[in-house]
Amino acid sequence: MDNTFDFIIVGGGSAGAVIAARLSEDPAVRVALIEAGSRPPERESMPAACGSLQLDPETDWMFTADPGKAGRGLRGRRMPVPRGRMLGGSSGINYMVWVRGHPGDFDNWERLGAAGWSHDDVLPAFKRMEGLVRSNEIAIDQDARGFDGPVGVAVRSPVIPAARDFVRAANASGLPSGDYNGAGRFNPAGVASLVQTNTRKGKRSSTFHAYLEDAAELRPNLTIITDALVTRIVLDNALAATGAEYRDIAGKTHIVLATREVILSAGAVGSPHLLMLSGIGPRRELEEAGVPCRLDQPHVGKHLKDHLLTGMIFEAEKIGTPLAEVGVSVGPDALRSPGGSLPADPAEDAHLSPELAALKTESQRRLDEWMETGSSLVSSSLYDGVAFFSTGLGDEHTHDAQIGFIPALYGADIMGERLFYDLDQYFDDPDAAFDPALQRVTFLPSNCVPRSEGEIILQTADPATPPIIQMNYFADPHDLKVMVAIIRKVLDIAANWPGPHKLGPWYVPPKLAAMHGHRPGDVPSDALLENFALHFATTIYHLSCTCRIGSVVDPHLRVFGVSNLRVADASVFPEITSGNTNAPSIMIGERAAEMIAADHGLRLSDNASATIRETV
Ligand SMILES: Cc1cc2nc3c(=O)[nH]c(=O)nc-3n(C[C@H](O)[C@H](O)[C@H](O)COP(=O)(O)OP(=O)(O)OC[C@H]3O[C@@H](n4cnc5c(N)ncnc54)[C@H](O)[C@@H]3O)c2cc1C
Repeated sequence: MDNTFDFIIVGGGSAGAVIAARLSEDPAVRVALIEAGSRPPERESMPAACGSLQLDPETDWMFTADPGKAGRGLRGRRMPVPRGRMLGGSSGINYMVWVRGHPGDFDNWERLGAAGWSHDDVLPAFKRMEGLVRSNEIAIDQDARGFDGPVGVAVRSPVIPAARDFVRAANASGLPSGDYNGAGRFNPAGVASLVQTNTRKGKRSSTFHAYLEDAAELRPNLTIITDALVTRIVLDNALAATGAEYRDIAGKTHIVLATREVILSAGAVGSPHLLMLSGIGPRRELEEAGVPCRLDQPHVGKHLKDHLLTGMIFEAEKIGTPLAEVGVSVGPDALRSPGGSLPADPAEDAHLSPELAALKTESQRRLDEWMETGSSLVSSSLYDGVAFFSTGLGDEHTHDAQIGFIPALYGADIMGERLFYDLDQYFDDPDAAFDPALQRVTFLPSNCVPRSEGEIILQTADPATPPIIQMNYFADPHDLKVMVAIIRKVLDIAANWPGPHKLGPWYVPPKLAAMHGHRPGDVPSDALLENFALHFATTIYHLSCTCRIGSVVDPHLRVFGVSNLRVADASVFPEITSGNTNAPSIMIGERAAEMIAADHGLRLSDNASATIRETV
């Protein structure tokens, strides 16, 4: 393999895959994309299987973090922080909730110094990305949306009736329906909707599927190197990036050279980690870890932001979808997992009882239907309803509150094994409390403009050792106050549930209820709600801002003090957006490609560079 390219992109995730695909549209340039993971496994495309990709070393970096003041209910007070490790990155492991953010988020970016990143500036990229499927199920702001872009966006099919009821209940509690990726976020009263998911015909539309698969990946001028752990950016004596060093799966070290630029798109953990491994970061921390400091940059890895959610379970007889039903739709193999109803060895199926034979046939039928039509219970992560609004507690430019809705109850395996909740501490019989046959629904209140900041700290000079991740949640007391207000709004929405069947009371983890003398149906005290959040709030996986514009990179994403090196991913957000972060990360990839194309005179297929404003 020729080891010299015009551009090297490190990390093929939400942003990196986009940049590789866009730059290689110009046949005159040679582009290399280096990714630590591989192509995604087959189950990645099934939305409801997303949880199974977490804590699997094939698809997840398996980081854990110190949660700060949150996470009292977690085993060993460690919080899992999954990050996608595959082509598509975290867009391959995520829950596919498609949210751009509030227009005010981007105007605020510009106010913070990110010239050229106002809502008007980023809107063309958001529209260009989207291949939204029109639907009568949701309000669509025609002028704000994109219908021909590579990322499939759709409402799940079939819509689960409880999700429609969630929207009606939110309406009844004062949150109007609207397009939350359009005019709905301009409404100060808030907005409620069924969720728009980044799926195409019921399959995940990650940036791998949307931008690389069967298209860009076949171009002769794009080289994709997978299973390659980048260990540092190569810098010359004048602090210009000249290439990247990586370790292949056999442990052999290689160097690839970039004649024009290296673009770091390794995510909010990976990008600051790699800068620090390359000697760019806080001098003392680097030296303590044994890395010679090439450029003292105190902001690298700092200002880490994330969103928290606090899952609230409600009894929902005749309303909730039992998780066991979803399991049947995953296909017969899922019914063979330990404790499943079918035998582990398919050879034993010859002796199935008539009931089990019928279950197997039905399961296969549902799987075939999903593959053929995309319509199935498995066509979303089950995060199917959403509302945004303001608590009035001090959000200046946006809604500070998000409530997600799941018409089901996640099982004890997900809660205990994948999310690390110490279930035995709070439930007398966790298996009974999280029985997959139960009809329950789950609300996910989330403070989406957090003020607390965490950090990523270099632990050692060994690139294979993860950095320390300090989330520092609830360090600023404002965040807990907002979370409590959002929890109260959940109780209000639940109380407004439309008929004929009503939700039962909020199911407070029994030992926490006992601690506060709370009985089912009581109005909960602030002390209980605060304690509930401190125990059960967990990450929504939106890590960002660790190489933010204005501190580590300029508005054209060029690293201050280093030439030929940009960072382009969620780490450059100047402030976290008030919503899920995948769409904004893809937007960063689109805009980075525009900027690079403009600077180097590349010809992209849709002449995207025309939308750049000269800002620096
Ligand atoms: C479990 C989970 C659920 C989520 N759910 C949602 C959701 O429903 N909706 C939403 O909008 N957002 C969601 N998010 C967040 C969203 O997916 C991320 O914000 C977004 O994908 C970040 O994009 P990125 O380009 O910054 O990083 P990533 O997409 O993480 O890309 C980074 C890439 O760099 C690679 N990499 C890192 N280090 C190296 C190295 N040293 N060498 C080589 N390659 C490297 C990684 O393997 C990865 O492919 C979720 C995230 C997770 C983890």
